[in-house]
Amino acid sequence: MITEKLYLDTDREESVKKTAEILKNGGIVALPTETVYGLAASALDKNAIKKVFEAKGRPQDNPLIVHINSIEMLKKVAKDIPKRAFLCAEKFWPGPFTMVLKSSGYVCSAVSAGLDTVAVRMPKDPVMSDVIARAEIPLAAPSANVSGSPSPVSAEHVINDLYGKIDAVVMGDRCSVGVESTVVLIEKDSAKLLRPGAVTLEMLKEILPDITVDKAILEEYKDGEKVASPGMKYKHYSPSAELYLIEGESKDFVSYVNKMNDGCALCFTEEEELIKVKTYPYGSINDQKGMAYEIFEILRRLDKEKIRKGYVHAPSKDGVGLAVYNRLVRACAHRVIKL
Ligand code: AMP
Ligand code: MG
Repeated sequence: MITEKLYLDTDREESVKKTAEILKNGGIVALPTETVYGLAASALDKNAIKKVFEAKGRPQDNPLIVHINSIEMLKKVAKDIPKRAFLCAEKFWPGPFTMVLKSSGYVCSAVSAGLDTVAVRMPKDPVMSDVIARAEIPLAAPSANVSGSPSPVSAEHVINDLYGKIDAVVMGDRCSVGVESTVVLIEKDSAKLLRPGAVTLEMLKEILPDITVDKAILEEYKDGEKVASPGMKYKHYSPSAELYLIEGESKDFVSYVNKMNDGCALCFTEEEELIKVKTYPYGSINDQKGMAYEIFEILRRLDKEKIRKGYVHAPSKDGVGLAVYNRLVRACAHRVIKL
């Protein structure tokens, strides 16, 4: 298959129109969102959804997020929507926030991987929302990477993973958030954080004071265990390098990696000059949003540079740090060292 490259700087209108047409005709297109690049397909077309799973090599039991552009569309896709879900929509949409609700059965069952729930997000990125508006259909869009590899935050990452396997890629800018959306299961009297993202637990608690945190966010999935979010049981975000997540103060991290003296260090910018091995700074210690922006780019760079081993200084688990920690602990296959 030839993957067409659609440009935004030269012919934005034409690219949006073409993307919507391909999607309406059952094709699959990668396009930027504010979180990561998504691989979109009509959520109403089971053959198109099948193509998404195949192109990504995604396990069949891992459901997709449905992208919408209006509350009207939300009401078509989900049913028995609790009042608190509307409050969240008002506060966090459009944005990097996904709600798992009861499915109305409007989107095809392969999108939900056979569950009776559906994950719904209203993205903020103007390209994605213009495409939904033009196609007038909800779009299922998982991250546009090969399953298991770090999520794509640039068109170049998408091309590396999926060129020749999808109909087109919209050549947009680097994604501004850099990690995937926050996912929350919302029921009438309860709420559970399934995946942390740029909408933080602290922000959610203002509307959902009783929200709980799914243990799969920080802990390893054990074979056969039941999971609230099927995606959480899979190996994720993994470069080929053997990575270790190191928890502790800056001075202890620096002396640990200098003592080990092998592989590389994914460190904070403040630590770079003190470390003797090759460094990959992924943000300032005080800038969690900056870490989220960089993390997948850096994880991909490790593969490109054929790095075999590395020590990662863990961010704190508050704010957006929780999202970065969650991606890193999985990239490290849960090898955590507490100093
Ligand atoms: P991705 O599409 O790669 O961003 O991954 C979507 C994430 O949302 C995965 O972790 C899924 O398990 C989760 N998800 C999607 N739909 C549901 C659902 N109906 N129930 C629980 N988790 C879901
Ligand atoms: Mg993904």
